[in-house]
Amino acid sequence: MTQSMNTTTAIDDDKFHEECGVIGTWNVTDAAAITALGLHALQHRGQEATGIVTHDGVRFHAHKGIGLVGDNYGDTKVMAGLPGTRAVGHNRYATTGATLLRNVQPLFAEFEFGGFAVGHNGNLTNAHTLKRALVKRGCLFQSTTDSEVFVHLIAISLYATVLDRLIDALKQVTGAYSLVALTNDMLIGVRDPLGVRPLILGQTNGADGISPGWVLASESCALEMVGAEFVRDIEPGEIVAIDRSGVRSLKPFSPQKPRFCVFEYIYFARPDSILEGHSVYAARKRIGRELARESPIEADLIVPVPDSGVPAAMGFAEQSGVPFELGIIRNHYVGRTFIEPTDQIRHLGVRLKHSANRAILEGRRVVLVDDSIVRGTTSQKIVEMVRGAGAREVHMRISSPPTTHSCFYGIDTPERGKLLAARNSVAEMAQLIGVDSLAFISMDGLYRALGQPGRDAAAPAFCDACFSGDYPIALTDHAEPRQAQLSLLAELA
Ligand code: SF4
Repeated sequence: MTQSMNTTTAIDDDKFHEECGVIGTWNVTDAAAITALGLHALQHRGQEATGIVTHDGVRFHAHKGIGLVGDNYGDTKVMAGLPGTRAVGHNRYATTGATLLRNVQPLFAEFEFGGFAVGHNGNLTNAHTLKRALVKRGCLFQSTTDSEVFVHLIAISLYATVLDRLIDALKQVTGAYSLVALTNDMLIGVRDPLGVRPLILGQTNGADGISPGWVLASESCALEMVGAEFVRDIEPGEIVAIDRSGVRSLKPFSPQKPRFCVFEYIYFARPDSILEGHSVYAARKRIGRELARESPIEADLIVPVPDSGVPAAMGFAEQSGVPFELGIIRNHYVGRTFIEPTDQIRHLGVRLKHSANRAILEGRRVVLVDDSIVRGTTSQKIVEMVRGAGAREVHMRISSPPTTHSCFYGIDTPERGKLLAARNSVAEMAQLIGVDSLAFISMDGLYRALGQPGRDAAAPAFCDACFSGDYPIALTDHAEPRQAQLSLLAELA
């Protein structure tokens, strides 16, 4: 199967990308359809591939495909091949392993205790190290994703039950992960000990009309989509096991101070999701207000860089009293199969997706509000476009601190040398992007907007490593990544 060319690559490459969305359903009528709808709501977390594994009470059934949810589950034959009232589903944005069909999740394996399907959102920071050891023991890897490490660790575990084997495996991995897994008689959800990646639990009317149905999902927007009620966030380090007797909670790790990914609030999560008790939309507006308090500017208009900059721009406008206007219009119909991206088209890239609203911008002093600056290439083109539409002054305000470090916990980021803020001061960035002034929210301002008194350097409430370089989970593989990869290749040869 081949993947279609994507002219948006050059544009989207200037954002961090979420690595995956997961969903699990238990005792729901037509679990595959409900799971597919949930995956559709989680499409922003991964667009490269998607998969669903169902269980009909006797057998497992699977579909995996490259592309969007709508490309895969609109086919009635595909859906007819996924019977059952239990399922796990996954949307993939590949950061480890190319997007080959064999890397598409949920991964599935047959054990002596029965089948096991697993979908993973996140990234293991000791996957190479574990993989090397597992290959030495004779384990044969079918994919190049780090998620397969879970499957092999479960396979070689000496414990008897699937939950004990899973706990045994989890105690050997480090990294950020939310997992959903399906066995012959159980749906399982797991969140890593620091709760870096999100996972929530919801409830529906059960397929049997007596006992409730359950939904596990990366974000609450998936529950809205399938008509499920939000129950709670899965706690950091918690395993939930759902079977005929209900929901059981296991906490096999010693408790640690949680470090939820702060970038979920800034950019990744859908604005209508509620994560860790906070509305993402309201959090983004509060960040915008805090930004306006910290870095005010005389201007005529507040203009969001669509779509992700919109709530922060609204907060900025409310706080500053400067009118909010849609000075940049987003074209939502930049198709995946539009035009082959030649260099000339790439140069035009940003105009395929955004256009300047001259009637609003001409002769005005404009404040552009965006969520982040990664490489800076898109910001530069947007500023050029806004000036080209006649803006008299162009200022930029960013609702995250400068992105100075790469993420190793499941977000696709450029290497550090390619991050604009890793190499340049704010003044230098302003000059490179071509703005009259540039300001980022401070780290303390960000924490205040999220209900904290500020950033407690000794015990921060969030993972903010891409802004601070303070990595809360050991980067085992990355201490010597090249050496680890070379050794692995040598062993596989
Ligand atoms: S490094 Fe940044 S993007 Fe990655 S988990 Fe931490 S806060 Fe989120």
